[in-house]
Amino acid sequence: MTGSLLLLISAFTNAQWYERSWNAMGTRIHVEVSDESESHANLLFDQVFREFYRLEESMSSYIDTSEVSIVNQNAAEAPVKVSRELIDLIKKSFQVSKISNGAFDITYASVGRYYDYRKNQAPDESQIEANLDAIDYRHVVVDEKASTISFTHPHVYIDLGGIAKGYAVDRAIDILRQGGVISGMVSAGGDTQLIGNKLGKPWIVGIKDPRREEESAVLLPLENTAISTSGDYERYFIQDGVRYHHIISPKTGRSAGEVQSVTILGPDSTTTDALSTTVFVLGVEKGLELVERLPGIDAIIVDQHRKMHYSSELSTPGE
Ligand code: AMP
Ligand code: MG
Repeated sequence: MTGSLLLLISAFTNAQWYERSWNAMGTRIHVEVSDESESHANLLFDQVFREFYRLEESMSSYIDTSEVSIVNQNAAEAPVKVSRELIDLIKKSFQVSKISNGAFDITYASVGRYYDYRKNQAPDESQIEANLDAIDYRHVVVDEKASTISFTHPHVYIDLGGIAKGYAVDRAIDILRQGGVISGMVSAGGDTQLIGNKLGKPWIVGIKDPRREEESAVLLPLENTAISTSGDYERYFIQDGVRYHHIISPKTGRSAGEVQSVTILGPDSTTTDALSTTVFVLGVEKGLELVERLPGIDAIIVDQHRKMHYSSELSTPGE
């Protein structure tokens, strides 16, 4: 006990707190570390910055030259050779599709691509009808040996927006850990991961109130964990009283309407990012049912009546 306390104190003796923020992947990236050297902290920040840039360049469907865009442009005609990294992330997305009966599905974008939230545009009936069949992750064929991806339906379009930020946070956390960081954090919009604690105390992470974003619906003391929130307030417009937002039900091609936000806690950000989107689509009942089946995963859901629902481990008294 005394030994570990001494170690903790000595680890912080000369350490200072450093932070940096920038924009990438359509959101604000924020990194904090405790480090004994400012130049070392800056070196880590530079590495993390480059990693976010690299992943955005390869995984964004808004960048024409990204691997994902090249897949979208060509995979219906012939297999497209891609990086091992993209194959692995797509395979991970399929796992989430399978356990959720397709609530999480990167081919949502076959219809989702017709939404433009900045221009207040949603797909019309005929666009939904013409492309709804293309939403099915089983239309995406991964050939691991050849490292290729092909589509078995002509209208398939993939988008990794529900999982790529979490993946990037995981890679950033790897960089920090390899650089010796024992206390730090990375956040990318709704996806945050914490290394250790903050100056000997738990980090306090706020979950936004979905209808009063400057306010927190709840504050959580956390250490060494990943936490992701998906909300209907992130990218949306309201028309004729209907909220059109960026989380799409693969069954209907329309914005999922049962809840306002979902927060997932878990061991890594790729998982929590994908699951927050998934549980948002599933809603309270089916969403919590899924979370209860997954060890090490917890959820906090705000429903349409602003009522909060917690998975059983979080709602156990004394936890
Ligand atoms: P998040 O904020 O992590 O919930 O991610 C939302 C993003 O996930 C959207 O902007 C889309 O890029 C993507 N997305 C939307 N609906 C789905 C879905 N049903 N399955 C997978 N990804 C989705
Ligand atoms: Mg997500």
